[in-house]
Amino acid sequence: MNILDLVFPKECLGCGKEGSYLCKSCQETFLKASPICPFCQKPSLGGKTHSFCREKCDLEGLFSFFRFEGLLKEVIHQIKYEFLTDIFPELFSVIFREWENEKAFISLYKFIDQKKPILVPIPLHWHKENIRGFNQSVLFGKALAKKTGLSLKEDTLIKRKPTVSQTTLGSKERKENVRGIFKLKKPVRGLSIVLVDDVWTTGATMTEAAGVLKKAGAKNIWGLTICR
Ligand SMILES: [Zn+2]
Ligand SMILES: [Zn+2]
Repeated sequence: MNILDLVFPKECLGCGKEGSYLCKSCQETFLKASPICPFCQKPSLGGKTHSFCREKCDLEGLFSFFRFEGLLKEVIHQIKYEFLTDIFPELFSVIFREWENEKAFISLYKFIDQKKPILVPIPLHWHKENIRGFNQSVLFGKALAKKTGLSLKEDTLIKRKPTVSQTTLGSKERKENVRGIFKLKKPVRGLSIVLVDDVWTTGATMTEAAGVLKKAGAKNIWGLTICR
């Protein structure tokens, strides 16, 4: 424990109990996200893209750990807007407890095992990253790399321009909003990739990124997010 923990003891974001940001019982309130097809967003076994959606979709599958609601929504908000980076170790430990126990990961495990993909985080625009001081997708990617032994290739994609906040936009407007925002910085021809992000909302951002990678010759692409 350091001195700051004594002066400002950590409090659970859920219930206010002292000692950690996510107490044991509040961790239990995180609800698992059911796997969906990234194209039609309907239920799909293990998150694999339906075979009849496959032709229209650059993502082969999608996996999100939890539902983007309740306490986890608050946690993500605290990270993004209050820069609460201290919470990451606790958040990752909740996430990776799932990773080890979850039969639902079978399709993604298989993909990782057979294709030996690289991990590519969804970038932030440099200006935003400078203000925030970190990119939560990169931090998530680093933790994943450590956990899986896969290598994280930061800066494979860069974001050309800042986007207006997506939160008030509908799904069609979101697609428009992200068109052309990513630029490829490293060759990906022949590679398999797991794209990493914090939240999947309509999928516009990740779909756009997958499109850029696919066009540049990436072979197989999965999406992986903390929540959806
Ligand atoms: Zn609590
Ligand atoms: Zn589908």
